[in-house]
Amino acid sequence: MHRTQVQVRKNLCALRVFAVQKENMKHTQGSIEVVCGSMFSGKTDELIRRLVRATIARQKVQVFKPAIDIRYAVEKVTSHAGSNYDAIPVEKAADIRNKLDGDATVVAIDEAQFFDPEVVNVAQELASQGIRVLVAGLDTDFRGEPFGPMPILMSMAEHVDKLHAICMVCGGEASRTQRLVNGKPARYDDPIVIVGASEMYEARCRVHHEVPR
Ligand SMILES: [Zn+2]
Repeated sequence: MHRTQVQVRKNLCALRVFAVQKENMKHTQGSIEVVCGSMFSGKTDELIRRLVRATIARQKVQVFKPAIDIRYAVEKVTSHAGSNYDAIPVEKAADIRNKLDGDATVVAIDEAQFFDPEVVNVAQELASQGIRVLVAGLDTDFRGEPFGPMPILMSMAEHVDKLHAICMVCGGEASRTQRLVNGKPARYDDPIVIVGASEMYEARCRVHHEVPR
């Protein structure tokens, strides 16, 4: 190729890059990424890390979480380590459609295990509209069984990252959430809310995860 032709091409490329930079960056293809693991595995920190990077890349970011997660600040996603990000609480997955900004290019759904099954359709729709969908949630419940819509979201996703915590018994890699009621492992059939009981959760490995029947 002639030298001037090469130069013209380079200039055109630079112009195109400039044109893109004036607006929010747009993805050419949507996708679903799932960040899952037990409690204390750093899911929300990883979600926030990805959101911060997306913001630096001039993406228009929107974060949703189930309205039942009132653990910390209401309109924020907050990690155990204390970092946070603005989030919109929604009663049900279908509400994400109504509250979606038309120019959002990255949509995050935190605590996805608490959403109804419709969250799968919502995530699929957003991804087919070219949106990068970030999903964070517990892959298993305190029994060690698949949690809500998470297994389906994990199968639909392009990328799945399974994070691990530290087992509170042996210090090994923890993949499960141990529920303790009055200091003892919760039974398989224990109700979700036990009035008057002191309840806590900790991370455990497969060997030390206990669910008496
Ligand atoms: Zn262990």
